[in-house]
Amino acid sequence: MSLTKILIANRGEIAVRIIRAAQELGLKTVQVYSAADETSLAVQLADEAVEIGPPAAKKSYLDVAAVLAAAEKTGADAIHPGYGFLAENAEFADAVAAAGISFVGPSGDVIRRMGDKASARKAAKEAGVPTVPGSDGVIGDLTEACALAQQIGFPVMIKATAGGGGRGIRIANSAEEFMTLAPQASSEASAAFGDGGLYLEKVIERARHIEVQILGDGENFIHCFERECSLQRRRQKVWEEAPSAALTPDVRERLCASAVALAAAVKYCGAGTIEYLYDDVSGDFYFIEMNTRIQVEHPVTESITGIDLLAEMIKVADGQPLSIRQEDVSFRGHAIEVRINAEDPAANFMPFPGVVGDLRVPGGPGVRFDHMLYQGYQIPPFYDSLLGKLIVSADTREKAIIRLKRAIGELGLGDLKTTAPLFTALAETPDVLSGSVHTKWLEPWLEANSDKLSGH
Ligand code: ADP
Ligand code: ADP
Ligand code: MG
Repeated sequence: MSLTKILIANRGEIAVRIIRAAQELGLKTVQVYSAADETSLAVQLADEAVEIGPPAAKKSYLDVAAVLAAAEKTGADAIHPGYGFLAENAEFADAVAAAGISFVGPSGDVIRRMGDKASARKAAKEAGVPTVPGSDGVIGDLTEACALAQQIGFPVMIKATAGGGGRGIRIANSAEEFMTLAPQASSEASAAFGDGGLYLEKVIERARHIEVQILGDGENFIHCFERECSLQRRRQKVWEEAPSAALTPDVRERLCASAVALAAAVKYCGAGTIEYLYDDVSGDFYFIEMNTRIQVEHPVTESITGIDLLAEMIKVADGQPLSIRQEDVSFRGHAIEVRINAEDPAANFMPFPGVVGDLRVPGGPGVRFDHMLYQGYQIPPFYDSLLGKLIVSADTREKAIIRLKRAIGELGLGDLKTTAPLFTALAETPDVLSGSVHTKWLEPWLEANSDKLSGH
């Protein structure tokens, strides 16, 4: 390893995960933090910590100059951006490289090409990967776009080309709705992502969200199989698992091969995820987007394949080739991850920041808890509500679900309200047990089962 010191340009549970991987590789760690995160677990675990600004992310975790100044001051020779914040910001990746520092991720050019969703669709088409029928690139004139929507057929999905985290998306059921919703989606995207560009996609009904983990070093490209993330609320994943119960070996092979073809077409470097919608009736899959970064749900892949995805990312950023070949990647058993958020599921998922009370961490066979908690920790109200991810693995999906219930039963956080009770309820629901779900399954279920969602 020629790298010696890595700066973590992120916070929360993913910062802790990156610190752990870096320490195991013998790297020193620098944690940057906002004034609201001085007491965070990541700051405690890193070798050094540098305050980079006030609580507002724009003035700290999103401040490129402040992050670079911290790297310079501490002599960091690599920067890991985690997910969210600057992770898919091409200008940041360029600025890091220009400062002579290794960016743990693909180049700015690859981020520009694949992080922009309309241009990524084009790259997928060119690589022979099926995409959802829709517009060619970003739409211009609204009236023309509306005519195209009519051609695609309503309902039509209006999506922000810069979108992420489920934001900047609208569904129009008619031409009239289209003319009202498109400007709304555009201004929401401009405000959230600084780019109001929109593109159109046909709505794939009753689809499953299935994504493929890929790794590349610029010359070798491999997949680490798929994850299924069909249980979503407001287009955000809440429960993820691997392998997908819906795929036959034949579809799995074609899906994973298409992801590798796309990674190879853009000479991908680092860890990435190619997301698809899968129609389990017709057996068709469609590319929706690529995330050019580590994903929240990466541990389920680590659990079934035994690959340390963070270590691979850092080694590739060090200039090393991938340490695994495709023929070495296999999977065993089943893993499930649930997102423990500081939100009250019984009160419409209202954010519930507070103090971590009597903390009891789940453990035992097949249980991994990636989190940012300690007893007495005051959760700051300024950021994403994700506190941690509970990951269970077992020989079979059935046993993994039993283990999930057992592990959630062990989790104690005092009076803090979290999404944990939701997962106990889901783990007892017939459609979840049989795997008969799709991306629109969870929301109506929540409406009908609000009584099951209170607990600790
Ligand atoms: P994943 O894609 O890893 O499953 P999410 O979609 O929940 O996870 O995204 C992880 C985090 O990154 C969330 O906090 C989300 O709001 C944020 N995020 C995702 N895409 C973007 C983006 N394009 N710009 C800014 N933040 C983003
Ligand atoms: P983000 O960048 O916000 O993650 P995605 O393009 O990945 O946006 O879409 C997020 C979710 O929205 C998908 O997982 C799926 O549930 C839904 N979705 C996106 N595109 C379509 C589509 N064409 N048809 C039906 N659902 C879709
Ligand atoms: Mg997505």
